[in-house]
Amino acid sequence: MPNFTDDIRTVSGVSERRAALYGKIGIKTAGDLLTHYPRGYIDFSSPIEINRAEVGEYAVIRAAVAKKLAPFFGKSAVYKLLLTDENGAIICTFFNSEYNFNRLVVNKEYIFYGKIGGNVLQKEIINPLFITPDDPNKLAPKYRLTAGLTNGIVSANARCALAAVKGGEPADLPERIRRDYSLIDVKSALEKIHFPASAEDYKTARRGLVFKELLVLQLGLAMVKARNRKLTGAAMPGRDIRAFYGNLPFKPTRAQLRAVDECVADMKKRVPMNRLLQGDVGSGKTAVAAALAYYAYLGGFQTALMVPTEILANQHYKTFQEFLTPLGVKTVLLTGGLSAAEKKLSRSEIKSGEAAVAVGTHALIQSGTEFGALGLVITDEQHRFGVGQRSKLISKGDNPHTLVISATPIPRTLGLIIYGDLDISVLDEMPKGRLPVKTYCVDTSFRERLYKFIIKRVGEGGQAYIVCPLIEESAANEKASAVNYYGELRETWLSGVPTALLHGRMKQPEKDGVMADFKSGKTKVLVSTTVIEVGVDVPDAVIMLIENAEQFGLSQLHQLRGRVGRGKEQSYCILVTDNCSPYTKARTDAMTRTTDGFEIADEDLKLRGPGDFFGQRQHGLPVLKIADMSEDAEILEETRKLAKSVIDGDPELTSPGNAGLKALVAELFKESSEYGYN
Ligand code: ADP
Ligand code: MG
Repeated sequence: MPNFTDDIRTVSGVSERRAALYGKIGIKTAGDLLTHYPRGYIDFSSPIEINRAEVGEYAVIRAAVAKKLAPFFGKSAVYKLLLTDENGAIICTFFNSEYNFNRLVVNKEYIFYGKIGGNVLQKEIINPLFITPDDPNKLAPKYRLTAGLTNGIVSANARCALAAVKGGEPADLPERIRRDYSLIDVKSALEKIHFPASAEDYKTARRGLVFKELLVLQLGLAMVKARNRKLTGAAMPGRDIRAFYGNLPFKPTRAQLRAVDECVADMKKRVPMNRLLQGDVGSGKTAVAAALAYYAYLGGFQTALMVPTEILANQHYKTFQEFLTPLGVKTVLLTGGLSAAEKKLSRSEIKSGEAAVAVGTHALIQSGTEFGALGLVITDEQHRFGVGQRSKLISKGDNPHTLVISATPIPRTLGLIIYGDLDISVLDEMPKGRLPVKTYCVDTSFRERLYKFIIKRVGEGGQAYIVCPLIEESAANEKASAVNYYGELRETWLSGVPTALLHGRMKQPEKDGVMADFKSGKTKVLVSTTVIEVGVDVPDAVIMLIENAEQFGLSQLHQLRGRVGRGKEQSYCILVTDNCSPYTKARTDAMTRTTDGFEIADEDLKLRGPGDFFGQRQHGLPVLKIADMSEDAEILEETRKLAKSVIDGDPELTSPGNAGLKALVAELFKESSEYGYN
């Protein structure tokens, strides 16, 4: 009898070949198979008549086997049966499944589920799933599959793997917690989630599993937070930063002042700050970062600001120079695009402490970069970095204060999870005088009008972005290719307008040149891929035209829109797409309805689901297998409180009563090594 942690091959019915298929979808052990939860269920409880089953749709029908036809052995083995009910008949076909063919008995009735093929005169149901009418389990699981696996196979294997639960204990929450929160035990939950007898069964099972998953996750995060509180870093005593505000080219918003104050309060303490700065695109997060760098400088410490792209590094470098150089603070740039000599110079100034601020890309975390006295680590556009990269930069100082900046507003619920180990400051106010960007969605027949509109605005001193999803020619749609599209526009509509091309495969100096010309206003229209997505700031840019808008996610569209509307003029975001799928429409509707990043984020979460919202790689957290952040908000809150109280009482889960929880945390975080549970 297999154990929960035993290899998938120990489950009866799982051959070497099948194990390889399971491997493709990340299933290696019996336990993995059991936590490969169904994505939904086929409801066998209300079958329809054969006559009412529509060709091209999935249907559940109740029918008797009228006769078995002679098998046909061609490229594959084809087994056909004739099924009938009172008013109709349908052919049932199995490919390569003598097993199912043999299981069906002539003259007996079954309930079948499958896609209806053929035509109205002769319908066909191919490789259906079926149960007998007296089967008490009327809900059959549907799984995420890969070619070669079917729902039938996975559910049969899952049934066998349930034996694993009986053989070796799967780890469960302590009895006291299950009692307090009325949760069923994990064994029953696993059985019921795969084979619920009723919707009620399913709900009970799911609640138990979601609760467990969210509790363990939040225990892990609460442990990190508790550990962090025990570290000792550099306390930076109170200093006056009025000179910084005096030198700013604008009046800070109240939200900016509040965020700076919250961070400064943290930085005065020995416990390192561990904070997230959240704010919609254009809310002015860079100025907050610069104020803190100045504060650290006054305390005798260096600041490292890491950003994901060279373009952004260059931009921040210039901004920091503008804000800080007049105050006597030296900022240096360190990116992969610099010449060897330039890099060497930056590194030596960072090491000697002559540079108080280092702005750069991943070059900052390379082994050659050493800091004299790193006291503050800031990562901008946090969602682009893994936790690992952030901790590498942090390790260059002696428990420095850390601030992570995210321009992707995160729904509160998700923020608690992804940034559960951080405190949060929010910029909930836009600088004064900004007009909301007007957003429209049009089809490609509008292109000429759009070009005329761009030419008109450019004539009035404006600038425009045209974003395409791909770099080079794509057969499907050549407008999708920035290179081709640029070439075409130069020769036609925009021949009289200074237009440039920007994409990720260009060499760095080239990119810098293009960007500099666009920022200075020498170039008026920038045709580009999404390299401009992150953080780029050009106040005169008033048009954002997005081609093939259906290719972008909602948050990405919102990010792109954030590139305009930064100055005093009315800005426009125009989504161009001929795609009318409901999913595209849901995104374009959300974009035209609101410019509020938090609302967009909520909508995005609903559309994409939490697993997708931030790829696991990006935040380094374990993947959640069953919990759904928008649906399970209540359990999320319950478990958050519980996790906090457990960790407050036993920060390292060392008491014997918490040993089980500790093991569960280690198990969940086993692939997130940055969290240090193993
Ligand atoms: P983000 O939050 O998206 O990183 P930035 O820091 O790039 O935004 O700021 C966007 C633009 O707004 C910049 O041009 C910046 O100079 C300007 N800005 C920032 N704060 C203010 C303010 N308080 N008043 C006016 N303009 C501001
Ligand atoms: Mg920014």
